Amino acid sequence: MLPMTPKAKKRLFLTVVLLAGLFATLKLTYWVHLHQGKIEIQTQSEKQLKELVSFLDGALSRYESIPHVLSTNPMLANVLNDQQNPDKVQELNLYLEEIQHVTEASDIYLIDALGIAIAASNWQQSFSFIGKDYSFRPYYTDAISGNLGRYYAVGTSSDKRGFYFSYPIYQQGGKGILGAIIVKVDISGIEQQSTSIAIAGQYQFLISDPEDIVFISSVDEWRLKSLTPLTQAKQYALNASKRYAERPIGELLMKPPYESGSQAMLYQLQTGRDHEQYMDNHQLMAKAGWRVHILAPIKPLLSSLPALMLLSASIYLLLALSILFSAERRRNLQRMQLAQSLLEQRVEERTQDLQQANHQLKDTQDELIQAAKLTVIGSLSASINHELNQPLAALRSYAQNTQTFLARNMQDKALDNIKIIIELTDRLADIVGQFKSFTRKSQGTDSATDIGRCIKQALTIVQPAIDKQGVELDVQLPNGNYQVWGDKVRLQQVFVNIMSNAIVAMQQSVKRSLVIRVTSEDKFCISIQDSGPGVRESQMEKIFEPYFTTNERHGLGLGLSISQRIIESMQGQINVANAEEGGAIFQIILPIYLLEER
Ligand code: ADP
Repeated sequence: MLPMTPKAKKRLFLTVVLLAGLFATLKLTYWVHLHQGKIEIQTQSEKQLKELVSFLDGALSRYESIPHVLSTNPMLANVLNDQQNPDKVQELNLYLEEIQHVTEASDIYLIDALGIAIAASNWQQSFSFIGKDYSFRPYYTDAISGNLGRYYAVGTSSDKRGFYFSYPIYQQGGKGILGAIIVKVDISGIEQQSTSIAIAGQYQFLISDPEDIVFISSVDEWRLKSLTPLTQAKQYALNASKRYAERPIGELLMKPPYESGSQAMLYQLQTGRDHEQYMDNHQLMAKAGWRVHILAPIKPLLSSLPALMLLSASIYLLLALSILFSAERRRNLQRMQLAQSLLEQRVEERTQDLQQANHQLKDTQDELIQAAKLTVIGSLSASINHELNQPLAALRSYAQNTQTFLARNMQDKALDNIKIIIELTDRLADIVGQFKSFTRKSQGTDSATDIGRCIKQALTIVQPAIDKQGVELDVQLPNGNYQVWGDKVRLQQVFVNIMSNAIVAMQQSVKRSLVIRVTSEDKFCISIQDSGPGVRESQMEKIFEPYFTTNERHGLGLGLSISQRIIESMQGQINVANAEEGGAIFQIILPIYLLEER
């Protein structure tokens, strides 16, 4: 197996965490929903239980007082005292029948002290109670002991489920109990009404007796079933009490087994073919001895669970994914910020490098300009020499003459000579001064510069060479103040370059003339024309390239390229053409800074 990359590991870890979170969310939703749902069901059941119990109480209590009221009628004691009198018995039968009709009781009957029925409302029915022995019934025992008897049972004669109320009949004067009057209530009507209430409340119910036998229920198959296991002893006791007459009693299958003491227990019970889960809440009706159970179905709670779990899983995934997404976004942002700051840092470094390179370039450029200037001076040195030697030789001869005049004591002549010597020295200082100012390194500062003055100063530099070569000079400068914006010393260098190139070019020419002309329209145009051989067509472009020279001995090939840079830095142009009559014409075009004609 290939080893996992850290990225794959991280992805796996995230997936595991995400799935664990999803599982926990589903589990929590399941638990909270069921827990909350059960609490709600229990609260609801308790309420419904109270309502059902109060309904049942009301239904039974309607009949509770009837036996007591009937017992006060002396007719009953009379019949008990005179049981062999058929008229009295019949009269009582009719009376009981009427009362039964009025009260809607199931049956009303009178039993004697031995538990034998003497008279009954159902005297003319085939299952009439008259003559039957009820001494085994607890309601007989209760009444004969002087108490109000209450008992639930299935009628042995009628086979109907009923609730019995009994009351003792006392001997007139209150001495001794002659028998008991019994009112039987048919509970199928009560069951029906209770079932309607249960259907409306969407629950099932059952009522169990003290032996945990269900005798009333909204579900038919639960009826006459035991909630607890039917042991032999229990079966025997049931048979002995005859509470359920001949009806067979089965066991109600419950999972888990029924626990009588616990409330809100969940049981699985059979309804039809299905098994359904219910929550059991119960309450004892103390007087009747009935235990009323409300069985609330859990199914609705479970059926809403899948949708709820789906919803909570969706919300969880949405939240988890949005957290992951925002974390990823934050990481991307940080990465981008890092990249940006790195880029900025690099740009800053490069800018610094560039600035440094620029400075170096400028220094180099300045050096080059200076070198080119010194080269021009170098090429002019022979004529400068000549220019200096002439006044020097004159100085020497004037000085010698002065010496002679002084020796002969010719003071006046000596003084004249000294005057000339001073003038010559001034001239020498002038020449040297101009060269000094030209060769000086420019400060590179721009200012308003007069073109005419600049050309004149350049001419003084090349003048010795002009003179030496016998060049005919024609300078046509305009009258007035023609100013451009730029570095004086550099502009002067441009003129010196072009003029000295022209003088060099005319060395082999028979006619040597240099025409300098300045005109102005929307710009200044300075043209410098010589009578040399001109520039070869093939070299027209090349002559402005650095290091192009045809003057291998003295040239560096930098003069024109530097001149072009200087002119361009002043927003101007420099170009060359050949004149028709021969010779080269250099044209310098410069923007006007100030034009003031006189
Ligand atoms: P350099 O003077 O050192 O040779 P430049 O850049 O000043 O360098 O000139 C380059 C070349 O241009 C010269 O070598 C020459 O061939 C040509 N050139 C310049 N001026 C003239 C001119 N007036 N007439 C003919 N050729 C010229």
